Amino acid sequence: MPENVLIIGSGPAGWTAAIYTARAALKPLVYEGAATEENRLQGTLPLGQLALTTEVENYPGFPAGDLGGYLRDALGEDKSYLADMHQKEGVSGPELMELMRKQAVNFGTRVVTDDIVDVDFSGRPFKAKSLGGDEIEAHSVIIATGARANYIGLESEERFKNNGVSACAVCDGALPRFRNKPVIVVGGGDSAVEEADYLSKFASVVYLVHRRDQLRASKIMAQRAENNEKIEILWNSVVEEVLGDDTQGVTGARLKSTVDDSTRDVDCGGFFVAIGHTPNTLFLEGKLEMNKKKYLTWTVPFRTSTSVEGVFAAGDVSDDYYRQAVTAAGTGCMAALDAERWLAAQGH
Ligand code: NAP
Repeated sequence: MPENVLIIGSGPAGWTAAIYTARAALKPLVYEGAATEENRLQGTLPLGQLALTTEVENYPGFPAGDLGGYLRDALGEDKSYLADMHQKEGVSGPELMELMRKQAVNFGTRVVTDDIVDVDFSGRPFKAKSLGGDEIEAHSVIIATGARANYIGLESEERFKNNGVSACAVCDGALPRFRNKPVIVVGGGDSAVEEADYLSKFASVVYLVHRRDQLRASKIMAQRAENNEKIEILWNSVVEEVLGDDTQGVTGARLKSTVDDSTRDVDCGGFFVAIGHTPNTLFLEGKLEMNKKKYLTWTVPFRTSTSVEGVFAAGDVSDDYYRQAVTAAGTGCMAALDAERWLAAQGH
């Protein structure tokens, strides 16, 4: 029997879609992603980007209070460490995602820890294949695979991934290897400033390397960088090579000026990249309409419909503008309602 709803992805959009479709008695099936080394390196593990952050202070509903008891109640034995970690008010990214997952499961969502690697939307029911070889048929599909952080694409950057190169300061910044050492953050947007600000708590100095003479970041964030004594902005510079060796990992970076041909080496123990994101849509190429940046396009204004009737998109995979947990959850809800109404109209 084909599934009513196959949900691909396990960030706030995926879990919200699951909660809504489960409560509509559609028995959703979620493929939450595979726990592979490749997914870890590229930041696409189950539970998405929020699982790679620390405090979430802008998700409505978590104003204050010790959530420890709530978490202990919601989490199983094997994840109880998350409840024990909770000491502050509000909620952290990993906690929020575990709670959303639990809420979806409580309403009957079935979850498979695997990637969907191929889809066939040319006929109905739709077909999908997982990395582990599952073949799934579904009357409707909600794509909520999110986006991942970009890297520059240098060979030397690849070589030192896991050894001083990272695209996630909040995941890795507190590691002993970065403490009291200079670190580099590449980028000039809000993410780069946020990462630099975060790293300045641990590093001796943070060099923010930007290819122009003006930040792209919002005024308030740019001000934050300028006011932080531990952040030094290196303007008009691009990274030519990440320097290091196999024992120490990253030891520096060779920067090239964008205004003349000069280069210089800057010592650093960590190299963080914050140059934007790429949607996780590779497996959908040629199957669904995308914009120039490969984000899925909604084909009806303010509806989550994609170019294939019965396939819906929610969260960052279809949003390169807002990119917030709450907007992802909101569009996850929209996709669930769109799928439910579409299925009803089809007589399912
Ligand atoms: P972004 O705004 O697109 O900025 C990317 C930055 O990386 C730009 O400064 C860009 O330089 C630079 N860049 C891109 N490719 C590069 C390359 N190959 N080499 C060197 N530099 C490169 O991306 P983002 O900072 O991730 O932000 C995305 C969205 O999320 C924005 O809407 C942002 O406001 C939002 N956001 C908000 C917050 C917050 O408010 N707290 C935090 C994070 C993100 P150019 O400037 O020269 O193009």
